[in-house]
Amino acid sequence: MEVHRRGPAVRPYPPPRKNVLLLSCMDLRLLDDMVEFMEGDNLSNRYDQLVFAGAALGVMQPKHSSWREAFFQHLDIAVQLHEIRDVYIMEHRNCGAYTHFLGPNFNYPDTPEGQVAEEEEHRKHAFSLRDQIVKHCGQRIDEGGDRELWTINVRCFLMDLRGSVRMLDQDAEKWEF
Ligand SMILES: [Zn+2]
Repeated sequence: MEVHRRGPAVRPYPPPRKNVLLLSCMDLRLLDDMVEFMEGDNLSNRYDQLVFAGAALGVMQPKHSSWREAFFQHLDIAVQLHEIRDVYIMEHRNCGAYTHFLGPNFNYPDTPEGQVAEEEEHRKHAFSLRDQIVKHCGQRIDEGGDRELWTINVRCFLMDLRGSVRMLDQDAEKWEF
């Protein structure tokens, strides 16, 4: 079921109380849809945005290793300057960066099987980055950083080319909104 992306009723997580860091792909087709999605969480002008080709895959891929460094340097600044408490990782379907970095097998067809396989691949990279963010913030606390400041929620999403968003849930439970 497709639900309007501004509608908050079915978002299965509490709305952020403070600022947010959004990681998205560079894909030009979805720029306006990203804004609408964030407005659905009442986050207008309340989020930092980092744009990497491939979103989580872009940060994690080894070909341009400096991208990962750049991401975490910006994460540190977002936490310290804007006291973000949530990171949104916004993956998207039909992502050209997936074929760029992983090869032609990662261009998925619009079949039910292709859509499931595509979602699984995005979940893999999004969760990999999520785990790295949690680890990174834990290290900041271990180094003497403020525990409240460095306690960050990471939420992973997958947007389709219509701007509809699914949450990539830990239990592979499917949420669509
Ligand atoms: Zn993309």
